[in-house]
Amino acid sequence: MPERFRGPVMLVRDPATGQALCIACKSCEKACPSDCLVVEGVKREGDKKKSVTEFKLDFTRCSLCGSCVEVCPVDALKFSKAYNLASTSRTAFCHIDLLEPREEPRP
Ligand code: SF4
Ligand code: SF4
Repeated sequence: MPERFRGPVMLVRDPATGQALCIACKSCEKACPSDCLVVEGVKREGDKKKSVTEFKLDFTRCSLCGSCVEVCPVDALKFSKAYNLASTSRTAFCHIDLLEPREEPRP
């Protein structure tokens, strides 16, 4: 795929632990002009930063503008290379769970 291709956004994970780098700051949620991201997180006892507990994408609203990727302070979001998403139901793309450990986001 061309380097600049934009598929649905996905979470970047620590290659050593597999944990998402996201610190649940919600900056991407606020920056999204289409209101298509939902992020929730908790700060567990003893941790210095929050951990993400929910990260949903409504891809039916996403314009692939890139605001969420640009605003992230820890580079925890990137565009995937998923080019062939298909479904017989539009609703399949409304609540894509980006926390599911898969290489590319799929409904
Ligand atoms: S690419 Fe743009 S429209 Fe899509 S989730 Fe990110 S900020 Fe929202
Ligand atoms: S801006 Fe980055 S760190 Fe903050 S909630 Fe979004 S993905 Fe997570």
